[in-house]
Amino acid sequence: MNTLGSVLYLAAHPDDENTALIAALAQGRLVRTAYLSLTRGDGGQNLIGPEQRELLGLIRTQELLQARRIDGGEQFFTRANDFGFSKNATETFQIWDKEAVLSDVVWVIRKFRPDVIITRFPPTREAGHGHHEASCLLAIEAFEAAADPARFPEQLALVKPWQARRLLWNCYSRRNGQFSNIPPR
Ligand SMILES: [Zn+2]
Repeated sequence: MNTLGSVLYLAAHPDDENTALIAALAQGRLVRTAYLSLTRGDGGQNLIGPEQRELLGLIRTQELLQARRIDGGEQFFTRANDFGFSKNATETFQIWDKEAVLSDVVWVIRKFRPDVIITRFPPTREAGHGHHEASCLLAIEAFEAAADPARFPEQLALVKPWQARRLLWNCYSRRNGQFSNIPPR
């Protein structure tokens, strides 16, 4: 990891991200680092106050921006709505406008121009939440689409196509902090 210039970390919700890793990259290794949270977490539970849904999303957005001020990373979102628990990615994509969310992910890749994209989750049921599984599927598609000028050409007035060099999975549980290729679906 010593030679990397920039890393885009990608997951579904505020607090999905591996803040220790983002801090280690941004501060320890001086790698340009960003976290792309597909949603703003407006479907989560608020245990400390009365705010729900959009207001909760606002609070969690502020929390993420605060976290990035501490760990030194940048923060991006997409238009994907956190509608609460989802069983699997198929269900998630019935509610999200998949092409629209994909275009947002492609936009962030073209704008931030990461050398490496790291997903928090695998593209399988092991991801647990449908939003998590969907976040990896979108990362896989966006990794290719961002480099393809035929995809979302309307963006090219403002950004250029971008091919990230690697797409990796930040394995979790006892393997936390390690990386592997994206496992097959
Ligand atoms: Zn999550």
